[in-house]
Amino acid sequence: TTETEAEVLGKYDVLPMYKQRDKFSHKGSYGHALIIGGSYGKIGAVQLSSRSALLSGVGLITAFVPKCGYIPLQTALPEAMVITDADKKLITDIVFDIIPDAVGIGIGLGTDEKTVKAFESFLKNNTAPLVIDADGLNILSKNKALLKYLKEDTILTPHPKELKRLIGDWEDDFDKLSKTKAFVKKHKVLVIIKGANSISVYQDKLYINSTGNPGLATGGTGDVLTGIITGLRAQGYTALESACFGTYLHGKSADLAIEFKGYQSLIASDVISYLGQAYLDLF
Ligand code: AMP
Ligand code: MG
Repeated sequence: TTETEAEVLGKYDVLPMYKQRDKFSHKGSYGHALIIGGSYGKIGAVQLSSRSALLSGVGLITAFVPKCGYIPLQTALPEAMVITDADKKLITDIVFDIIPDAVGIGIGLGTDEKTVKAFESFLKNNTAPLVIDADGLNILSKNKALLKYLKEDTILTPHPKELKRLIGDWEDDFDKLSKTKAFVKKHKVLVIIKGANSISVYQDKLYINSTGNPGLATGGTGDVLTGIITGLRAQGYTALESACFGTYLHGKSADLAIEFKGYQSLIASDVISYLGQAYLDLF
């Protein structure tokens, strides 16, 4: 095997990616993100993700959820617009009349047969930059034939178990990375291997994140990452920038948050509330 180029990304590596706000800009300047996910009992994931996209700076956010998500989302997140599926508890048909600049799909989705069908037809028709997480990844893993519908530069954000389902088991870290690289090359996608020091794998290179801490080992933090990355993508950041800058901001928010919250008490919502501080800390 050839040697892999790898880069550890700190503040001064992500800073050049940062897009300043223009004085005469308006909400249309910062894109419209769409978060598709949720099922009965898992609407919180969509709240976390949508809120994260907003705090990443996106101009507009719409959430697509089953009917049971309507009231909780409109109540918890008045800044978000909500479109609902015809079904009460599940996503069964993904239809909407907006033109999103980026879509994040998969969180809290479940893997019901009807949802799988809806996911499949969405994948075939979608043209917006895409981020796939959680059950979106699990559906792909169970239906590998769907991988051919992934557009170039789609971002996949698996945690280790989701990665294993996607690329198969590995022998050691080296094997894991080379299998992920082969997958990335074959499908022309970007994969973020989540964990301590998340690694973005893109084309032939590895980008290692330097922020974050074990306080993040708690439910919902992955949904926050998906929201941030989808939000950045909608604002016009490239796939690589969204992955690198997104994982940086996510980890940095957690690093700032534990100073006040401690590792044990940090929850995903705290990571979101420190996003603004993470941006400010860049300068
Ligand atoms: P998920 O498993 O999908 O909820 O995602 C968990 C998120 O928390 C990912 O962004 C991980 O990179 C991050 N995370 C989990 N455990 C750690 C850890 N020990 N150190 C740093 N980041 C972590
Ligand atoms: Mg997750």
